Amino acid sequence: MASENSALWGSLVKAMTRKIEVPGFTPPPRRDGFRPSPASVQPAHAPGGRRSSDQSAPAAPASPPVASPEAAIERIAAHLSYLTRATVEQYLDAHGNSNGVLGRRLAALGLVESGGGGWWSVLSSGVVDPETFAELLRSCPGVPQRSERSGLLFDFILDSEIGSYRDVKAADKQSVAEGRRLIDVLVEKGTITEARGADVTAEFFGYRRKRGKKWAPDATLGHTITPEIGRAFEIVPMTGGAGAGVHLVSTSNPGSALIETLKKMTGHEVEVLIDTPSGFQASFDAWEQEVSASQAARAPAKQSTSASRRRRAERRGTGEFRIDQDSFAGINSPPEMARALMERATSVGATDIHLEPQRDGMRARFRLDGILYDVARLRGLMGEEVLSRIKVMADMDITERRKPQDGHIRLELLGDNYDFRIATVPTTHGERMSIRITAGAKEVPTLELLSLEPQEDKLLHDFTRRSHGIVLACGPVGSGKTTTLYASLGEVDNAAKNIMTIEDPVEIALNDVSQINVNYKIGLDFATGLRALMRQDPNIILVGEIRDEETAKVAVRASLTGLLVFSTIHANSAPGAITTLYNFNIPPFLLATSLVGVVAQRLLRTICPDCKQVHEPEAKVLEQAGLTDEWLIANGYLEAPEPEPESEPAAEGEEKPKRRRRKKKAPARPIFYKGAGCDACFGTGYLGRRGIFEILDVSDQMRLAISERKPESTLRSMALEGGMRPLADSGRHKVVGGETTLDEFIRVLYQ
Ligand SMILES: [Zn+2]
Repeated sequence: MASENSALWGSLVKAMTRKIEVPGFTPPPRRDGFRPSPASVQPAHAPGGRRSSDQSAPAAPASPPVASPEAAIERIAAHLSYLTRATVEQYLDAHGNSNGVLGRRLAALGLVESGGGGWWSVLSSGVVDPETFAELLRSCPGVPQRSERSGLLFDFILDSEIGSYRDVKAADKQSVAEGRRLIDVLVEKGTITEARGADVTAEFFGYRRKRGKKWAPDATLGHTITPEIGRAFEIVPMTGGAGAGVHLVSTSNPGSALIETLKKMTGHEVEVLIDTPSGFQASFDAWEQEVSASQAARAPAKQSTSASRRRRAERRGTGEFRIDQDSFAGINSPPEMARALMERATSVGATDIHLEPQRDGMRARFRLDGILYDVARLRGLMGEEVLSRIKVMADMDITERRKPQDGHIRLELLGDNYDFRIATVPTTHGERMSIRITAGAKEVPTLELLSLEPQEDKLLHDFTRRSHGIVLACGPVGSGKTTTLYASLGEVDNAAKNIMTIEDPVEIALNDVSQINVNYKIGLDFATGLRALMRQDPNIILVGEIRDEETAKVAVRASLTGLLVFSTIHANSAPGAITTLYNFNIPPFLLATSLVGVVAQRLLRTICPDCKQVHEPEAKVLEQAGLTDEWLIANGYLEAPEPEPESEPAAEGEEKPKRRRRKKKAPARPIFYKGAGCDACFGTGYLGRRGIFEILDVSDQMRLAISERKPESTLRSMALEGGMRPLADSGRHKVVGGETTLDEFIRVLYQ
């Protein structure tokens, strides 16, 4: 699945690499022909600071077209002047196809479509110029590494007296041939330990080594650094280090193109820390899990209900499927196991299957409602054979285990059609496979299915009835924003109105609505598409995302000319969306005139009704969740304590009936629940997801505040006074209402 930010990444990487390489800026070649990498040219790039050569440099000249593969190799080798032409050629031939590391990196950044052809087709199409290509190639596994401070990695290793010349030379050859890191090959051969390998890597590149236990995965950048990018570049954003900025944990140098781009995107310093491959993998898994958990579903509400129906059917059908690791025991043939894994995954509504080689066999995991669960351990050769079986089904090369591959399976299982997208990648323990599952056709969600609170439902309905303006949905990736917008569009009388959309990509086909996919290759981005749509006399336009200034400006202009524009924007809260728009340099008075409302949202997993049980939370956790007595009292879940509870009722008429009623009915304190785990919920205790919302209705008073560019805090308190229920409160009501758990609430809202 293309990452939401891929196009932005692509254009930034291109811009960065071009800017870095403007003539006159590149230091003259040294005697040995070595030119320092951009990363080593500007090691202490001040945040936001620009080098004088940057400023004086004119816009990067358009690169001349590449006439032939030979010319392309020539230019790549010239750019990476410490490599010979033969080395470049050898690497491209061996690893430059669409499934190679480089191909996956280009795809992750949105420079090419995944599976977008070999290196020459990419270069000849002009999508990527040889210099950008070279810049991304520089840090790929298998490419000889060079840093200014330490020279060639090969020499550095020899100088460190890690192995004999013969051993290191052989490992070096193998690493180029197999497209793997030299250090990894040495570790595999037992020449050095993993830990020592990481030490050497850190020392070589001048990065810090990741140490200590304070580090935690940082999912807040999940929108910018998607798991797809993380996997392709072998990076994990983590927090825990001293100082501000972005900390990237990797096993090697992720490459200056990526680092510089990330600096530009986040506006922060970026520090790389080196970890061992196994340490990295653990961090990556935890991070990926957190990102997808905070993204939760691409699956809209409707889908989770049908998923839960399927789960129930599954329970009735087999009644044996649970999370414990022996659930697939008794299946001894690899083809049967492969099929069983795929069948079970679809029947429980999992979105992904992961097959991960480990020291002692293969671990199989399912991703369910955004979280990864261990489902089986495949011992002995079973794991490899299952993997091979799936590769055969997906028409992949089963003899090739050292290069990443992509494949695709379409299957009818239990009466439904499913798409399985397979990707493999070599790891130190063997080949790893991930399978993304998508069901056939998706249904169009409705506002009713979002199960909004009545007043929220009314607000959204009101928004859809406006004749013009902008309505925004915001939240992390996968928080159901698009679903909310689709549901809102569904409320519009589309027979009387002309509705058009521009999306990346079109997720659900809507009736009587003209939908367009963005296509960056032909220059059709959100802004261009929106401009084109405006000429088609629409009443309502849905723009997939406002992610840049240009799109924001066109959207505002469209709304001012009498269109109702729906879109999503990256912000954590409803008032935060307004400050994001400030930052897109929309004149505040125009923004104030055009903005109708903002919906911020998250998805919370709901407790499985089949195994729901009472749960006594710790006071500490309640406090962390903000479920204090004050909150409970203020929201009518708890009666305010009376000065003397045992004394005679006070004279006030109101007190008496209230107390009597309370005594007869519910206990004074709300009861909390959680799922114990059962067959229906795959042992997780959760079944399906539900949205929580924070809906900001732009009042006249708020318009004034926006036109004066008041800060987020002011807008927030103004909105709260106006009756906006904050996200956290919506979540607390779901917890106290027994729909979700405290843990889930804290995970989604506070982590
Ligand atoms: Zn259950």
